[in-house]
Amino acid sequence: MSEKLNGRKLAKIVTANIAEKTRNFQEYFGRKPQLALVVVGNNKASEVYVGNKEKACERVGIISTINHLPDSTTEIELLTLIKSLNHDEKVDGILVQLPLPKHINSDHIIEAIDILKDVDGFHPHNIGQLWTGKYSIAPCTPSGIIQLLAYYDIDVKSMNCVIVGRSNIVGKPMAALLLERNATVTLAHSKTRNLAALCKSADLLVAAIGKPAFITEEFLRDHAILIDVGINHVNRNDAPSEWLANGSPLRKSFVEKGYRLIGDIDPFAAMRKSSYYTPVPGGVGKMTVAVLLHNTITLATKRQQSLS
Ligand code: NDP
Repeated sequence: MSEKLNGRKLAKIVTANIAEKTRNFQEYFGRKPQLALVVVGNNKASEVYVGNKEKACERVGIISTINHLPDSTTEIELLTLIKSLNHDEKVDGILVQLPLPKHINSDHIIEAIDILKDVDGFHPHNIGQLWTGKYSIAPCTPSGIIQLLAYYDIDVKSMNCVIVGRSNIVGKPMAALLLERNATVTLAHSKTRNLAALCKSADLLVAAIGKPAFITEEFLRDHAILIDVGINHVNRNDAPSEWLANGSPLRKSFVEKGYRLIGDIDPFAAMRKSSYYTPVPGGVGKMTVAVLLHNTITLATKRQQSLS
């Protein structure tokens, strides 16, 4: 019988804890922490993510400001905004929602963020700190996964962990955090040979690919731990009959909304074969936002302490 790793539940606990830390911060330093969110263009998914982050900040008492720039924004204009946020005394954290429009080089933007305000931990300096174990904050999604595993007392020491996806925001920092916890880590990607066989060797599999239900039953070892990072919008017309059948836990959303968010792992295969799995939605995504709040209060506290 597989058990759900309930990110929704843990995110509520973490968030309540951050709300208390924020109250203490305000009492002690006489101001609220502040996060600057930057979104460029009209990418619907980005707008939803940024909106969720804004609401989450509001719930815990962190001030958030959204800088919404048009698609026509040039790289220079965006760099100028980053510079002004870097110098803004009130701003503790800066988050640039990715992906950026193609005409802007996201590396240039990330590298322009003040390393002490880099709330996502994507700046090369902070990536170096992560790989050398000297970090105070880590990228939100992998960090949330580590917290979720810890909450369920899952010790990854000596486990074979396979991560499918090598992005700078998920796959690579996930590898660093698992390695630090003494897992044996393999990073797989689109050029990996015999991916199914490799995944089948995993005690713990992290899927961060961006393809709905890409990981099917033949990729999975019995009783593996499955972490599904993928968030994919699937329309009812594209859903296989098993998902829509009477009694399917997925059916309701497809029928009521006409679509559902589906992870990178086939949800039925996950429920049938794993020992633990993260649901989509309600798993990794909720923890990502909770860690963003955690990172903001951590950076705000460090900055404030360095001033006194
Ligand atoms: P990227 O597109 O940056 O990376 C995707 C990775 O998947 C790449 O490394 C790519 O390999 C690999 N890949 C693509 N196709 C295959 C294939 N056929 N076989 C093996 N590997 C493949 O994605 P992100 O890391 O940004 O995001 C991944 C997913 O996670 C998306 O669905 C995204 O929406 C979601 N996400 C969810 C978050 C959350 O909070 N839950 C947060 C961030 C992302 P290669 O490098 O060779 O191209």
